[in-house]
Amino acid sequence: MLDCVFSKFRHVTNYLKHVKTSTHKGKKVATSNSSKDQKVSSEHDHSQSTAVTQTWKSVLLELQPQNPYVEPTTISSQLYPHLHEAIINELAEHRIPASFHEDNSDEGSIRDYSTFVMGRFTCDNNSCPRNAWTSKKVTLFIRKYSNDRYNAAVYDQSCKFCEELGRLAMDEKSYVDRVSYRLKRWAGVEMEPPQYNLKKTPPHVKEHCEGCKAGICGG
Ligand SMILES: [Zn+2]
Ligand SMILES: [Zn+2]
Repeated sequence: MLDCVFSKFRHVTNYLKHVKTSTHKGKKVATSNSSKDQKVSSEHDHSQSTAVTQTWKSVLLELQPQNPYVEPTTISSQLYPHLHEAIINELAEHRIPASFHEDNSDEGSIRDYSTFVMGRFTCDNNSCPRNAWTSKKVTLFIRKYSNDRYNAAVYDQSCKFCEELGRLAMDEKSYVDRVSYRLKRWAGVEMEPPQYNLKKTPPHVKEHCEGCKAGICGG
């Protein structure tokens, strides 16, 4: 019985020797025949295999989800640069200079204001029973930058049935009114705020508003 175990052990040892030898043989051919070089080659092999192991470790780490419980935080909002000309027309009377800042970001922003525009959203999800919805509280976030630059981001809403983001057809007049009003106020013009009929406005549903997700909605 014991002999049998030893025999198996010898067999395994021989097998390992064989593997080791054949590996060395391969490297020997590639490098040099001298025993010193062989040793260097062997050490080099060891560092290579360590490097390989580390690479695999890093690959495995990359494959592991870093934080599986964090939801995606991409907020959906759009700029409307084609409405800049209408804004300029509104500001012309007060000779307020303004240029459109194309970067939809807070970076470099020196002032901002959160308000709403009106719009109609369409749900493009074919398997969703809801076709569209209107909102008088589509979040509008106006930013001022240096050198008379500004922009205004309009935030999407998601469908309350299927959670997909809606496709917005914005009421452009409400956009032009509110952006130009804010830019006039920032330029020091005293004027009455535009009148909005908000009485029939449904409650602003935080769960479906990208502006609320971004933490910029006024209510
Ligand atoms: Zn839907
Ligand atoms: Zn909101």
